[in-house]
Amino acid sequence: AVSGAITDAKGDRKKRPTQQDDIDVFVHLVEKRDDGIIVSGIKVSQSGAIGSHETLVLPGGSLKEGEEQFALAFAVHNGDPGLTYICQYNAYSAEREMCDDESDLGNPVYGQRETSTMVFDKVFIPWERVFLCGETKYCGKIVTRFAKAHRMNCGGACKVGFADLIIGGAVLAAEYTGVEKIPHIQDKIIEMVRLNETSHACAIAAAMKGREEPKGSGVYLPDDLFGNAAKLNTAHGFWEIMKNAGDIGGGLVVTMPRLKDLEDPEVGPALKKAFSATGPADKRLKVAKFLQHWTAGLHGPGTWHGAGAPQSQRFMFTVLTDFESKKKMAKKLMGMKE
Ligand SMILES: Cc1cc2nc3c(=O)[nH]c(=O)nc-3n(C[C@H](O)[C@H](O)[C@H](O)COP(=O)(O)OP(=O)(O)OC[C@H]3O[C@@H](n4cnc5c(N)ncnc54)[C@H](O)[C@@H]3O)c2cc1C
Repeated sequence: AVSGAITDAKGDRKKRPTQQDDIDVFVHLVEKRDDGIIVSGIKVSQSGAIGSHETLVLPGGSLKEGEEQFALAFAVHNGDPGLTYICQYNAYSAEREMCDDESDLGNPVYGQRETSTMVFDKVFIPWERVFLCGETKYCGKIVTRFAKAHRMNCGGACKVGFADLIIGGAVLAAEYTGVEKIPHIQDKIIEMVRLNETSHACAIAAAMKGREEPKGSGVYLPDDLFGNAAKLNTAHGFWEIMKNAGDIGGGLVVTMPRLKDLEDPEVGPALKKAFSATGPADKRLKVAKFLQHWTAGLHGPGTWHGAGAPQSQRFMFTVLTDFESKKKMAKKLMGMKE
């Protein structure tokens, strides 16, 4: 498995890498040797890095002349000397540590996406694993190529699978309380499907419209505009999907007791009475826990920022859209000469 490391710690976002108080907030060159390079710096939010055999490290964005020391692309083995992974810690981590019963977890089979902060402290990379070293003019291109694939699959398509689960949970929640045929509930479910299938379609379109890049290389990359559309639509749509599922699931999604309390001789009978509806109490609580995991946890910001903050996709729209041809078509229909 190979993970992809783009996001530098970045420090003060207004400043260029060379202007930072501590340049370690960007991965950078420390020394060039005959046999390879020495690198230091920090990449953050690295999905799956700790569990991958290798990480492909790329620059965090376009770079200019004078920023050569940050223009690096290389592959690093997991566990190479000087490389430290510091794992994320959040409410899901705590829940997993503390629980003594799997029913207390919203996603017991797969858990959560594990990211880590990767600290490079004078890590040696042999030349055969170095792909860029100082060539600033290629940084923008290499990042864009990575981003277009990432936005189609991670930003767009993968979240469609998440949303399929949320929609499934929401429909079950509606059935277990007897509201599944009520018009506004059906409307919310259809809205979730509309948002989700739009992202699905954009991701498929990005793949279908993919092109060989560069020509003759045999490497095909997704269409940039559709890939960015998939990710941006998902970023906005996912909050709506979470909102609708939270609505349908009711307050129980965040106020439920533990599932195993249903079997407690003292409080179990009252809880069964309280939470039985058209579906049995245990199924209602199980669905509530599932929806809690998907709608009241980390997935909002995760989906928003994963594959790049939405402002980056908006920027790509301005770069990739041919506004001149749109103006020309509009003028033609209006009979405007100039
Ligand atoms: C679940 C998850 C998994 C991830 N996995 C990976 C991964 O595997 N590999 C990887 O490389 N990255 C990964 N990321 C990182 C992701 O790409 C970043 O979170 C994203 O690019 C935003 O960067 P940031 O988190 O540093 O936020 P920030 O840069 O702090 O952004 C916060 C806000 O500030 C704005 N902003 C920041 N800088 C500027 C600026 N210069 N000008 C104008 N506005 C600015 C942003 O648009 C945003 O609105 C992951 C993130 C998440 C949440």
